[in-house]
Amino acid sequence: MTVPMDMLNPAIVDIGPEGLPLSCSASGPQLGLDGPEDRFDGPLTIQLELLQQEGRISVTGTLEGTAIRQCVRCLAEYADPLLVSLYAEYLPQATGAAKSAQAEQGRRTARRAPQPVEPEEEADEEDELYWYQGDHLDLAPMLREQVILAAPMQPICREDCLGLCPQCGQNLNERRCGCPPAQAPSPFRVLRGRGSKGENA
Ligand SMILES: [Zn+2]
Ligand SMILES: [Zn+2]
Repeated sequence: MTVPMDMLNPAIVDIGPEGLPLSCSASGPQLGLDGPEDRFDGPLTIQLELLQQEGRISVTGTLEGTAIRQCVRCLAEYADPLLVSLYAEYLPQATGAAKSAQAEQGRRTARRAPQPVEPEEEADEEDELYWYQGDHLDLAPMLREQVILAAPMQPICREDCLGLCPQCGQNLNERRCGCPPAQAPSPFRVLRGRGSKGENA
């Protein structure tokens, strides 16, 4: 059995232009996903292909697993299948000043490209850009970021989730509670409230 942390720190010398396949399973905490929201059912399966061209390393692949999320409507926990498509580029970071120099080099490369690069695509490229130092690649921070980016802002257990009754708190997916329908505040009442405030002042 391969130790996941070794797999997630491949040596740069092992990555060539012919490509280096990499597959392993990791837990959330092994990827730095150890917050209260980072819960998974079983391991995360990672399959990557790494390619190096003159120091520039591209990483493509997938990350699969099952996330446990809490529905924002009914507050129930549910299993959310994860399938994250990964794409990242790593550039060597030699010194502190290397970052801007590399960015400048990136722009020059873009200008040389036969197809003009759309501004939106350029922005995406920046998001996928990572830096490496030394003789090993550290893939965990990139994987962690991609899993976080793939998480929905408003997790919902299912499209037609009925949520909770605002009056008694019953989960309406399980049964109806019999409470009268909630009344929206009427504009008249709001106006009257303002009026009485004015009288008191
Ligand atoms: Zn729900
Ligand atoms: Zn109710």
